[in-house]
Amino acid sequence: MDNLDIASQKSSDINHVLSQIYDSVKENRKGALADYIPELAKVDPNIYGIAIATNKGHIHSVGDVDATFTIQSISKALNYCIALELLGRDVLESVGVEPSGDRFNAIEFDPRTLRPYNPMVNAGAITIAGLLYNHLGNEAYEYILDRFSRAAGRQLTLNEDVYNSEMLTGHRNRAIGHLLLSTQAIKEPVDKALDLYFRQCSISVSTLDLAVMGATFSNLGQNPITGKQVFDMTSIRNTLSVMFTCGMYDSSGFWAHDVGLPAKSGVGGGIMGIVNRQLGIGTYSPLLDVNGNSVRGIESFKKLSDEFGLHAFDSTNRGSGLVAHFFDY
Ligand code: GLU
Repeated sequence: MDNLDIASQKSSDINHVLSQIYDSVKENRKGALADYIPELAKVDPNIYGIAIATNKGHIHSVGDVDATFTIQSISKALNYCIALELLGRDVLESVGVEPSGDRFNAIEFDPRTLRPYNPMVNAGAITIAGLLYNHLGNEAYEYILDRFSRAAGRQLTLNEDVYNSEMLTGHRNRAIGHLLLSTQAIKEPVDKALDLYFRQCSISVSTLDLAVMGATFSNLGQNPITGKQVFDMTSIRNTLSVMFTCGMYDSSGFWAHDVGLPAKSGVGGGIMGIVNRQLGIGTYSPLLDVNGNSVRGIESFKKLSDEFGLHAFDSTNRGSGLVAHFFDY
């Protein structure tokens, strides 16, 4: 076979495995729509998609991968990366990097430091939003939207309805913001930090966007589709570390054990996962388990990890033979 034949054979092998996973996981109708803000309860529970983007710029996908939903907590990973890049390790003086063992929206800080445990829980993410606002001023939202868009390779937009819903009902996040002010983890203006946080959560993305954003992380900050550098390489290393230990709410331990990839999920139903130096993976299905993770998303990732040998400790930094077998073409 010549190189073109090999590439098309590999591509069809990947698509075949993806379709098999999709068909088997689609049967799983467990879980419930997020309803803590009214807008999130209005989405179609049947929508489901899986997309993979490789560092070489190939895309493989199945299902409703163009349907949009709000990025929600996945934004926490991107903003942490941006904050590390703009502010360096000083960020760690405001937010720790330890798993909290508490709910994502817990009103709880590290008792030793009175700082949020990590940037993947709301308290940490609101603090990061505060740092970004204080550094960037009123341009902060446009700035992060531009970075998110470049990571996705297309212009993203705000879902105004979800944003308004977050603003109207975000009392718990406001309480967290004001407590952070009282412990001096963040500085005034706390309302601006909260507004940035509500906005970042309300950015619309598709499953395909999550895969390309993930691949931008896995490709050392360069979007493999557009070829443009989006993030600083050193910030990515530290962001992936926190995603690995804290990215999946209260099932981060289970996830690291059974899936073995840095990832971040959001209550909108999306999950963005990264196979270091190789792949970005996005899944979307809005039916959530008790921890706030997409039921089909978790099952899809588990199967993808098993089928393609993606677990971090199945592979070396250059990837397992299986990953190379499938994706290196
Ligand atoms: N906007 C949501 C909140 O802070 C994000 C939650 C999430 O996706 O975990 O409550």
